[in-house]
Amino acid sequence: MKQALSRISGRMTTLFSMIFKMAQRQADHKKLTRHIVELNKKQSSIQIINEVALCLKDILNYRLFAFVIKKKKSVDIWLDPKMYKKSLEDIILKDFRIKDRESLNYLNHTFHPDEREEKFNMNDLVFYELNEKNCHSRIYMLPHNNMYSHHDEVVNLILQGCSAALSRQAKIENLTNAAAIDPLTGCYNRREFENQLKRNIAGAIRHKNDLSMFMFDLDHFKRINDTYGHLAGDKVLQEVVALMQKNMRTGDILARYGGEEFIAILPETDKVKAMELADRLRIKISKKIIMHNDDTIKVTASFGVSELNRCADMTRIIQDADTMLYKAKLNGRNTVMPGLFKIISNKESEKRVKHTV
Ligand code: GH3
Ligand code: MG
Ligand code: MG
Repeated sequence: MKQALSRISGRMTTLFSMIFKMAQRQADHKKLTRHIVELNKKQSSIQIINEVALCLKDILNYRLFAFVIKKKKSVDIWLDPKMYKKSLEDIILKDFRIKDRESLNYLNHTFHPDEREEKFNMNDLVFYELNEKNCHSRIYMLPHNNMYSHHDEVVNLILQGCSAALSRQAKIENLTNAAAIDPLTGCYNRREFENQLKRNIAGAIRHKNDLSMFMFDLDHFKRINDTYGHLAGDKVLQEVVALMQKNMRTGDILARYGGEEFIAILPETDKVKAMELADRLRIKISKKIIMHNDDTIKVTASFGVSELNRCADMTRIIQDADTMLYKAKLNGRNTVMPGLFKIISNKESEKRVKHTV
């Protein structure tokens, strides 16, 4: 009798456990479907990774989740929670054969030196690979709950969804870039410049900020093509743009306006600051030595500067910069218009700046 009761109780436990697992499985699949639907609405890689993390947290209640994307020269890491940074970094450096810790770039955290650190048992760490064209990524995870047999399936399904969403996103980014970027120099093209200018003027009006612009044109560029060839001319254009981008702020927008003529939007910058920047850049261009085959090429540029007027007129700010550029050419080239000159007052420290037109 006792034995029979124990047998029945054993069977009941197995049955309940099966029913529990089935219910759990159904509930997890419901959650998974909801997250996959959300995943497909996301419009950036970070949003996609966030949704994957939410899904895994929801279903597995992970202790650690890290999404690592290998790029050409760096590795992007999305990590939750951040207190596992050091232990995980050692693994990432080893797995991706990276020597330089500096090339690890965190997508969702910045770190302070006194941040709390925690170690974990390496044997508990599971990882999954995602191999897309041009994108190698790896997911590291420390699950919190017991992993049931269906959890592997859940993780694989969400990762397939993630992979599809990321490659769709990469295609969209490539297409957007192709429509906005000048293929020779890598800066924005004229169409994108106009979009950005509209957006920046609206922002300047809303926040009552200054906005300036400069236009510049390489001097006697035809001679460079005629003397050294068209390929050398192309290289000059590329190097000038690289030099400009290196010496401008991240928020400044540089675009190719046509041929060897470029234009820049300088948000939150008044006209005097814009003129000073243009002059610094003019000097840098004039000092730059560009090597092409055995030739050493030097080039200069003329700049025209303008600022947003009270009517916040988009056509007007471009026209003003263009007029100033024309004056700079008439003024002998390799110059900025309006020009700056400094008036030194009696006190050495009181330097005021005036315009010349
Ligand atoms: P200025 O100082 O008055 O501006 O004289 P410039 O010679 O620079 O001006 P011009 O308009 O006479 O000549 C511009 C030259 O720029 C002619 C054109 O072939 C060349 N150019 C335009 N786009 C490109 C390009 O993408 N690559 C190369 N290599 N040359 C280009
Ligand atoms: Mg020119
Ligand atoms: Mg020109």
